[in-house]
Amino acid sequence: MKKIKEQRYQYMMTALAVITMVLVIGIYMAERCEDEKLMAVTSEDYIKWVDYRVSAEAMKKACRLDVESYYEEVHLDWIVLLAYAAVQCGGKIDKTSITYIDEIAQKMTEKEITVEELKSTYKHFDYYYEAYEAVLGGLLGEYEIETLDKEGKSIMEKKYGLKAFSPIAKGFPYQDYEDFGVSRSYGYERKHLGHDMMGAVGTPVICCESGYVEALGWNKYGGWRIGIRSFDKKRYYYYAHLRQNRPYAAGLEIGDVVTAGDVIGYMGRTGYSETENVNNIETVHLHMGLQLIFDESQKEGNNEIWIDFYQLAQFLHVNQSEVVRDNETKEWYRKFKMLDYIVEEFAKEQK
Ligand SMILES: [Zn+2]
Repeated sequence: MKKIKEQRYQYMMTALAVITMVLVIGIYMAERCEDEKLMAVTSEDYIKWVDYRVSAEAMKKACRLDVESYYEEVHLDWIVLLAYAAVQCGGKIDKTSITYIDEIAQKMTEKEITVEELKSTYKHFDYYYEAYEAVLGGLLGEYEIETLDKEGKSIMEKKYGLKAFSPIAKGFPYQDYEDFGVSRSYGYERKHLGHDMMGAVGTPVICCESGYVEALGWNKYGGWRIGIRSFDKKRYYYYAHLRQNRPYAAGLEIGDVVTAGDVIGYMGRTGYSETENVNNIETVHLHMGLQLIFDESQKEGNNEIWIDFYQLAQFLHVNQSEVVRDNETKEWYRKFKMLDYIVEEFAKEQK
């Protein structure tokens, strides 16, 4: 009897030991998993902040050098040129620091230095390249645009160059000035994280860069607004305070793919109200916001990165979309068709 009792006792102890071990291992594994998850979040090396201070002149210069060298032996990447200038002047590329763009363009054309060498020589080059690539990555490329030949017949012309547009349609006057970061008080004290372009009610608002409609509808600050995400997901264009009653281009819906230069909506003064469709903004204007997203966790919340659009608006001013009005529906449409290859690629991927 005693033996059996002892055996039972031993069995129980063994079982208890096994259960304890399983539990300890389980807890350890769970903790490790948690650690790994945290590691994944904290060690993820993505850019947390960008202060975009590149002048329109600098962008124009770099863009021209890129476009002009497109078919040459050495194609100068405008983002490389700007990243180099940024390294030299601490990220503020104004009139005096434009010379760095010429300097590096010449060196690269003469094959005195390569991009790899720039990366290994300058500590912050990678940061600026990645940051600027996020801002400018979708603005240049190959595309086809409708033009008229000598007989006035419509043809599609293949091009390489600036394929992004100003948010204001051609022929519609607007005024703007440097206004990023000034204070705003509706709702709560905050900084103005965008650029305002003042014009008349109904001015056609143009899609700057091709992408898809991610947000559409009422927002208590922005009023009727449209949010368009670039295909590489790094940029979110925010067009706000659109027209009362008819804010959007007819039929525009969330998920729609839009091409740069398309009419997407109309300027107005809606917003600053919890109630929908209210004109509560004094001055008619388009609020243009550009948000950078390196990691999806930066999309909403305290880690949002909004950049100054003023210099970009000036840079894009050379490319204003020409529009025509359908007198019956009173809708405006782009005059010249455009084939942005990136739109085709995106459509193919979706299938
Ligand atoms: Zn604004």
